[in-house]
Amino acid sequence: MKPTKVIKQFVFGTAATALWCSFLVACSTNESKKATPGYTTSTTTTRTVASAPIQQATITYEAPTKITPFEPAGSSLTPANLPSSETLQRLVDEAHQRFVNDNSGKNADYIPYLASVPSKLFGVAIVTVDGRVFTAGDVDYSFSIQSCSKVFTLAQVMQEAGEEAVLKKIGVEPTGLPFNSIVALGLHDNKAINPMVNAGAMASVSLVKANGADDRWQKILTYQSKFAGEQLKLIDEVYKSEAESNFRNRGIAEILLNNKNLFCDAPEACDVYTKQCSIGVNAKQLAMMGATLANGGVNPKTKQRCLDEKHVPRVLAVMTMAGFYDESGQWAYTAGLPAKTGVGGGIVAVVPGKMAIVGFAPPLNKAGNSIRATEAINYIDTQLGLNIFGAPHVNARISSR
Ligand code: GLN
Repeated sequence: MKPTKVIKQFVFGTAATALWCSFLVACSTNESKKATPGYTTSTTTTRTVASAPIQQATITYEAPTKITPFEPAGSSLTPANLPSSETLQRLVDEAHQRFVNDNSGKNADYIPYLASVPSKLFGVAIVTVDGRVFTAGDVDYSFSIQSCSKVFTLAQVMQEAGEEAVLKKIGVEPTGLPFNSIVALGLHDNKAINPMVNAGAMASVSLVKANGADDRWQKILTYQSKFAGEQLKLIDEVYKSEAESNFRNRGIAEILLNNKNLFCDAPEACDVYTKQCSIGVNAKQLAMMGATLANGGVNPKTKQRCLDEKHVPRVLAVMTMAGFYDESGQWAYTAGLPAKTGVGGGIVAVVPGKMAIVGFAPPLNKAGNSIRATEAINYIDTQLGLNIFGAPHVNARISSR
């Protein structure tokens, strides 16, 4: 590059940067003034750079969605840093009682079977890394694991193919878009972005080492069962219902394959993924799966290692970034826990080194996240100060949209 060109670029770049910075200052000034009671817009100043007037930006300040404060209960951790059994049982009961009458949200109905699951069902479960189990409500009801399964197939691929393969072949970025977004694919060279959205989950399925569809499905079911510490089964009605209506996922799989971002046949990846989502779990089983991650990859009940310890933080990071889909930021901001939701109404949150907390209730909010399960987990998290980023002094609950 010629020196004069460099200088021209530098001058232009500096002017542009100054202009941009002034714009940001003007915007933030206006925004903060509007947001602060007592300010009037007449005090707003307009700045200029190189005699170019800065257009006053129209920024409408939107109040955050409903946030209800909870009273922190104070620390009840034992010297071993795990809450006592009495505390955990009390909190599970309280979380259940508090939200059992929240009738907001709606069952998923794009998978016809899910619309028919009783909306009143509500279960809360905790499994600690030392294998204690605490439950309240409908914790024996077997619901479809749905997207919570994505975590464990990610774990399987990481174990088999390594962290590099996950990073390069699937990706680990949050999408900021819905879980079945086709736009997200288009924006990222038709690559999956992360293993928690449908595209990335099908890419994960395709990366599992297997000889054909049956073998792939059996390997996934066996692996997820190992996390649960007991044999899990397919809920056949969920599978049939979803397989008859999953046109969108079939399309996503074909787009991935067309761009060499799927590593087995598209119909095979989509069908095995649909089966994986139709695995039945109850709240206790899902909590055991989460507790295995909390316990560094070793199942607290069977003591079997499911995932190398070095991979666990990677899996939890991906859950934190994208486990709540396009609400992941809000969830991290308020609850600060790696978690994964599913349209069957289950949510599993992992407290590294301590426990997993599961909520199950079929009605979902617009992002596809169970409302009562979100509230229950966030309540327990808040009461115990479990936020991995540091427990805030004033806690708040995530609101439904
Ligand atoms: N099987 C569902 C789907 O592919 C999973 C979605 C979810 O749980 N968010 O649409």
